[in-house]
Amino acid sequence: MAIGFYNFQKLHNDEFQKAVMKRFEEIVSKNGFVEGEYNTKFETEFAKMQNAKHCDLVANGTDALEIALQAYGVGKGDKVAISAISFYATAECVYNVGAEPVFVDVEPETGLIDPKSLEKVVAEHEIKAVICVHIYGMAADIKALETICAPKGIKIVEDGAQAAGGFYEDGSPIGSSNNLITYSFYPTKNLGAFGDAGAILSNDSTLSEEIKSIRNHGRSPDGHKLIGRNSRCDHLQAAVLHLKLSTCEPQNENRKNIAAWYFDEFKGTQGVELVPEKYIKTSSWHLFPIRLENKEKKYALKEFLGSKNIGSALFYEKAMPEEKPLLDVPGYKDNAVPFAHKTICLPMHPFLTQEDVKLVVDSVKEFLEK
Ligand SMILES: *Cc1c(COP(=O)(O)O)cnc(C)c1O
Repeated sequence: MAIGFYNFQKLHNDEFQKAVMKRFEEIVSKNGFVEGEYNTKFETEFAKMQNAKHCDLVANGTDALEIALQAYGVGKGDKVAISAISFYATAECVYNVGAEPVFVDVEPETGLIDPKSLEKVVAEHEIKAVICVHIYGMAADIKALETICAPKGIKIVEDGAQAAGGFYEDGSPIGSSNNLITYSFYPTKNLGAFGDAGAILSNDSTLSEEIKSIRNHGRSPDGHKLIGRNSRCDHLQAAVLHLKLSTCEPQNENRKNIAAWYFDEFKGTQGVELVPEKYIKTSSWHLFPIRLENKEKKYALKEFLGSKNIGSALFYEKAMPEEKPLLDVPGYKDNAVPFAHKTICLPMHPFLTQEDVKLVVDSVKEFLEK
């Protein structure tokens, strides 16, 4: 039996396809290309779901990060502290607004930004903003980060690309903080479009107005007020996102159950480490990472699972400080590098059964006992 890393057949079943086609026909017949009624509907409903005042759709998750930095006034000559474990875009966005990144190390058990490392970074560099990442769907310790940043006036961007529908440790939805929170709706994310899309959540109407202006060529009611860009979200993508929105929370519930099954099946297994169990309840479980002894074991397990038709993926094969264009970036990475080398992600999507999970874990155990 093959167990895929994702399952788009089930996610985009016949019923869903029919509903999408109906919306596409409606949009085509009205010639409603960009920023149509589904954009507004999605923005209103996603903000409500995440307990934020404002949601502004943009073209993709990388633009969301760049626009968030620009809305905070981050630009040329500024330094931005970023978590060393993330998708490459979290570093790219800093350069694309003319600023420079400094790496902050991560906690060895989660890959989440380590507040202690951030304290060192802000003591050594004049930091204008921090990008923390809710990696794999687990929320970074936002209270600890705010305690460090607030007295110095450092702005926080939360990269929530992997955490749609997720919660902070205190159980409040990601979105209720006073920071800008960015999302990617790339098709593989928990809430995915049929192509590229992204969004920024905020609880500050001035910042939201700024974001709306930046995404649409710096427009304002009386002409162009700043140098913006085109990062509008297509109406077709917004229509898909709006259609999927009501399924995000129940699917995340499935993901939680699946994560709990993984924890049960792995109990007492030597040679594999999981993230702390407390995240079962709050994570959006975008991915299910496990850590092995070393890089060699990780690659060998990937091959072993592949031979059994079980999907797995390396998020991330390297820590960002190891990527060629980022080799000279200052900061800390002592935990991030081994974390990336040891981590492999097992199948995680809302349609896995308990039998699927047992089969995956039994296969990992079989590999470890070889
Ligand atoms: C996917 C992702 C992004 C980038 O989103 P795009 O929509 O592909 O531009 C940024 N950060 C993280 C953590 C991601 O997982």
